[in-house]
Amino acid sequence: MSCIAPKHIAIIGAGPSGLIAAEHLATIGHTVEVYERMPTPGRKFLMAGRGGLNLTHSEPLPGFLGRYREAGDWLGPVILQHDPEALRAWCEGLGQATFVGSSGRVFPEAMKASPLLRAWRARLEALGVTLHVRHHWTGWDEAGALAFDTPDGPKCVQPDAVLLALGGASWPRLGSDGSWAERLAEKGVETVPFSASNCGVEMAWSPITKNRFAGAPLKTIALTLGDERVAGEAMIARYGLEGGAVYALSGPIREGLAAGEAVTLFLDLKPHRDRDDLAQWLGRARKGQSLTNTLRKAGLSPQAISVLRDAVTELPRDPQALAALIKAVPLIVTGQRGLDRAISSAGGIARAAVDAHFMLNAMPGIFAAGEMLDWDAPTGGYLLQASFATGLAAARGIEAWLAAD
Ligand SMILES: Cc1cc2nc3c(=O)[nH]c(=O)nc-3n(C[C@H](O)[C@H](O)[C@H](O)COP(=O)(O)OP(=O)(O)OC[C@H]3O[C@@H](n4cnc5c(N)ncnc54)[C@H](O)[C@@H]3O)c2cc1C
Repeated sequence: MSCIAPKHIAIIGAGPSGLIAAEHLATIGHTVEVYERMPTPGRKFLMAGRGGLNLTHSEPLPGFLGRYREAGDWLGPVILQHDPEALRAWCEGLGQATFVGSSGRVFPEAMKASPLLRAWRARLEALGVTLHVRHHWTGWDEAGALAFDTPDGPKCVQPDAVLLALGGASWPRLGSDGSWAERLAEKGVETVPFSASNCGVEMAWSPITKNRFAGAPLKTIALTLGDERVAGEAMIARYGLEGGAVYALSGPIREGLAAGEAVTLFLDLKPHRDRDDLAQWLGRARKGQSLTNTLRKAGLSPQAISVLRDAVTELPRDPQALAALIKAVPLIVTGQRGLDRAISSAGGIARAAVDAHFMLNAMPGIFAAGEMLDWDAPTGGYLLQASFATGLAAARGIEAWLAAD
């Protein structure tokens, strides 16, 4: 039984941040309507499910919050209010058990998003949340009402509070295209231009690497850029390199390229092996064998050997020099992939444009959450965790703002 005076809340965007806000606000008794431009909700969430739906991460919170880099102190208190344990409990409450993978990443056992989204939609329906699909929000009319293009023509809505949960600007064909930024800028909301994040990097491979090994993984590697070293996996693409270890360096790579600096990643193909130890082993193993055979015996895959060969005109015969190369293959980055296929985007609504409850300073009663906000994080579950946590925080902000009204 609700003890509040129900208000009418419009949530625009049916991704994780919008839907978790809808769940909270409907649970406390408000009338919630969700507007989504696509024919079905949660398209990017479902796409994330194709990779197993890495919901969050199990690493201790100080390290976890550090993944948000300069936004860590902003998002930290918000994530503490809805931390990885709470997110897992929520998921399990919807009948989807979770597990921690070997890398510490957390996934639903189903390794996809569809059963979770199905159960979630049923819960939202039971709570009375109305979902309007094919409703494309286009801004505000002269009276300040929300304006939508719908299959039945234009429609205007004047709710008591609004949550904008329109997502960032990556993978625009899934619905979030960042076109809202212009509309908000016109209203005096400060925004930071979008750039691709968690995206592949371009580099020039030899025809052999490009044609024979595109799609092949480089397993158990580490990449270093400046002071940052990331262990993980990467995948050779025709255009360059993609995968978790590359994505984790998206921020510094972007900053280096933007500053016009030469960006060179150093690839360690044997991260668990000491260089001197490797050199000694190579010295002993080479006797009477071809270099390729020795490298294979050292545990390098054919694709790793190809990448190694691409980095130099000739592979060094000296074991010390060869070990040094295996431990730090220089890869010159010529560019970053665009927003079209980036997993996330950096940029969005500036931190200074919202209050502590994610209400737009320039537009009282209008809140924002999720990837619309200017934070960024690597893959590993940090994106969904922050989308859920900011969605819930904005919903609580709406709750408090309406109560004070
Ligand atoms: C390929 C891929 C894999 C990913 N894998 C993972 C992963 O494993 N783990 C992880 O943490 N993150 C992952 N992510 C990122 C994660 O999916 C996003 O961070 C998250 O979905 C953002 O949630 P959101 O609610 O802010 O925005 P979104 O999920 O983008 O939802 C925004 C919604 O708003 C709607 N919308 C936009 N504009 C309008 C408008 N004008 N009118 C009406 N509706 C509108 C969109 O159609 C969309 O449904 C992945 C992303 C991609 C692309």
